[in-house]
Amino acid sequence: MARFSTLARLHAVKRLPPLLIAVLLAGCASPAVKPALPAPAPLTAPQPASAAPAPSAAAPEPLPTQITPPTVSGDMVFDAWAAEFYGRAVKAGIPRLLLDRELNGLTPDPRVTSRDSRQPEFSQPISVYVAGALGQGAVAIGERKRAEVPNIAAIEQKFGVPREILLAVWSRESAFGAIQGDFDVIRSMASLAAQGRRRDWAEGELISALKIIASGEATRAQLKGSWAGAMGQTQFTPSSYLATAVDGDGDGKRDIWGSSADALASAANLLAKGGWTAGQGWAREVSVPADFDWSLTEGPKQPPAWWAQMGVVRADGVAWSDADQAALTQLLAPAGANGPVFLLFPNHFVIRKYNNSVAYALAVGLLADRIAGGGPLVKPWPAETPLSLADRMTAQRALAALGFSAGTPDGVVGIGTRSALRSWQKARGLPADGYLSPDMVQKLKAEAGAGRTRSC
Ligand code: CA
Repeated sequence: MARFSTLARLHAVKRLPPLLIAVLLAGCASPAVKPALPAPAPLTAPQPASAAPAPSAAAPEPLPTQITPPTVSGDMVFDAWAAEFYGRAVKAGIPRLLLDRELNGLTPDPRVTSRDSRQPEFSQPISVYVAGALGQGAVAIGERKRAEVPNIAAIEQKFGVPREILLAVWSRESAFGAIQGDFDVIRSMASLAAQGRRRDWAEGELISALKIIASGEATRAQLKGSWAGAMGQTQFTPSSYLATAVDGDGDGKRDIWGSSADALASAANLLAKGGWTAGQGWAREVSVPADFDWSLTEGPKQPPAWWAQMGVVRADGVAWSDADQAALTQLLAPAGANGPVFLLFPNHFVIRKYNNSVAYALAVGLLADRIAGGGPLVKPWPAETPLSLADRMTAQRALAALGFSAGTPDGVVGIGTRSALRSWQKARGLPADGYLSPDMVQKLKAEAGAGRTRSC
């Protein structure tokens, strides 16, 4: 993954395709074999061996007494990468002694590289994902935790993000701190960097992780996370920790692993920096008229009054608040024309800066609403059928063959595929909801197949 803007990089790891997010979460949830770790590093950053006063930050680093080969893992690709990375890390300001200590003897973790390349055979329908997020006692635990987390009112007040949103993020990221991942973040990032597919991103995170150790904020042994390097109760990457983590319990330390107040304050800071609008919702369920033009979904961003002209009203019949009236909102039908429809407020897109997935942001928002005492949706989720990777690829290839290409077929039904599907549906007089159902796959397959037959 390439370099991003500061904000986008806050959670670069969360920008995995939605399909991989399930793998990521599963990665956190699966019992990890503890990798062999060196002895815990001292809390203080390494100092030059001489008795001279410590150099200022601007002074050049003293030459090391010896240059140690970075690592000898026996894996040629990994060792070649490590040798090159060593120089880049020194340039980035990581002390040589610390690099020697953390990289020597390091080996790639095959569990990390295999997970990075794995794509599940079947996609998880959004209704199933949301049901999972609202199930397993998440609402009741959230209600209880709301009363237990120290300083939660002060955190909400300071950052302007509702506590229920923070509790919902906490639930999704680590099951309220219960599942934080037990992977050695240094080893995971080195493994991903050596593999090469996302080298720039992984090296950036590795350097950030080394900086955390150098700063004394956490030891190597404390730097535990998911296989993809997401750490602590709110699953921050090392770079997002450095840029965004804050102290929430007032002890002067940023402990996103052990302090729920620190973790939630850090999440609140990330969302506030991402542009959270205090006093405004994240989305509202709406209803639309029978003859609604579904091609408007995931389209224009307009105030609720504009949508009202199209017949779009709040599903619960309640009038829009003044704060909501001022927002530019986008229509979303995540399960197609047969499912619930939402007007998305700007805060929905702020949640997606945490994890750029429609399903994730919906699950967080809906769980937050329930923790806050809200009821179920007015329109229930329809029964959805999981699509196989082959079906998704077939649909993408068919769209391309019919002149509605959304780029290289990759089996990931993202905004590009949905837009192409909407265009095709509209051109064929179908409800243009951009929802890839098994029926749409069959229709696309039949039309593309007929086209091939004709051209032969
Ligand atoms: Ca703290």
